[in-house]
Amino acid sequence: MVHLESADPLVHRAVLGETSRQHGQLEMIASENFVSPAVREAMGTVLTHKYAEGLPGKRYYGGCEYADQVEDLARTRATKLFGADHANVQPHSGAQANMAAYFAFLDPGDTIVGMNLSHGGHLTHGSPVNFSGRLFRVAAYGVRESDGRIDFDVVRETVLRERPRLIVTGASAYPRAIDFETFGEIAREAGAIHLVDLAHLAGLVAGGHHPSPFAHADVVTTTTHKTLRGPRGGMAMCRAEHAKIIDRMVFPFIQGGPLMHVIAAKAVALGEALAPSFRDYAGCIVENARVLARTVTERGVQLVSGGTDTHLILVDLRDRDLTGKDAEQALERAGITVNKNTVPGETRSPFVTSGLRIGTPALTTRGMGADEMTLIGGWIADILDRPGDAQRIESIGRRVRELCETFPLFR
Ligand SMILES: *Cc1c(COP(=O)(O)O)cnc(C)c1O
Repeated sequence: MVHLESADPLVHRAVLGETSRQHGQLEMIASENFVSPAVREAMGTVLTHKYAEGLPGKRYYGGCEYADQVEDLARTRATKLFGADHANVQPHSGAQANMAAYFAFLDPGDTIVGMNLSHGGHLTHGSPVNFSGRLFRVAAYGVRESDGRIDFDVVRETVLRERPRLIVTGASAYPRAIDFETFGEIAREAGAIHLVDLAHLAGLVAGGHHPSPFAHADVVTTTTHKTLRGPRGGMAMCRAEHAKIIDRMVFPFIQGGPLMHVIAAKAVALGEALAPSFRDYAGCIVENARVLARTVTERGVQLVSGGTDTHLILVDLRDRDLTGKDAEQALERAGITVNKNTVPGETRSPFVTSGLRIGTPALTTRGMGADEMTLIGGWIADILDRPGDAQRIESIGRRVRELCETFPLFR
């Protein structure tokens, strides 16, 4: 970063600070990951200079020869990786991909059915503070109190009662495999569009460690930066019959020019996900989460649904005199980064909460495996047992830093 250092020392210093924070802490936020140096390089290329409104071969600007090549690589790799008919790789984020998908099928005032935010859904699935909750009539389903799993009786009942035009499935904080096939059947029964939001699960599906939703969905949106391990961004994929309307909703309806440098990085990341080693990576993510779940439950930590099938666990702190907020801060003091999260049946505010979401994608990228998960799970349990014990937190913090040195992040 020789240019940045001399041109803008303040920004440079902040970037260096972030670099050492990422290296020196255990990143366990379930939605985060570390991209490869090649993906990072692609994001810093001259493609950021290029206006390329439109699609490959059909642009509104001249000079798009190489932009076309890059976007075609990304689109082709996405459809191959997921077995989709069509992919639009332009959405700037997961939220944008969802917006495009909604507008492809809905008018303001239409009814959608989505997962309750406090049960693991996402803001864009109908929350009143999001455009989705403002523009559409929303009915929500959730998980059963008894076992923390999606209650398909409630889903079916809600859908048949509300007769939504669209059902959105997928979640941000649900530790179990999602039965997209049953959701697809219910949607078909009700004559509704099935939108699968694969943001958290995309890498696991790509790597063959979560059942694919593609045969059961009309449209599939995703982020590219979570388990898929690409640059920050989104994608929308669909069957051929919906390709035109999805493309038109991304541009010109909700977005302007695509971020070509990010699309180049998406192409690189999708290429990486097509390599056989990505299967192993996805498998390790899930295995690491299982080991972590087993380790903490053996120490008496309660988990929503009792465990995990995916890349994350959801700790339920309601049996303890400890909030999600305080637990998050105690772990952060030891260098373990997680996020507080609502749990099903939550009674506290979203700024306090009674849960923690803990994920393994980033540490798995760093090369950590079962031994490290056992170690880290033990530390997490130690801290949750005595969150106010400064000496204990300090000594765990030292061991965290040692572990980070053993698994260098930036080589
Ligand atoms: C992360 C996430 C999104 C939004 O992604 P952004 O890129 O942050 O807009 C949408 N849906 C689900 C289920 C997510 O987990």
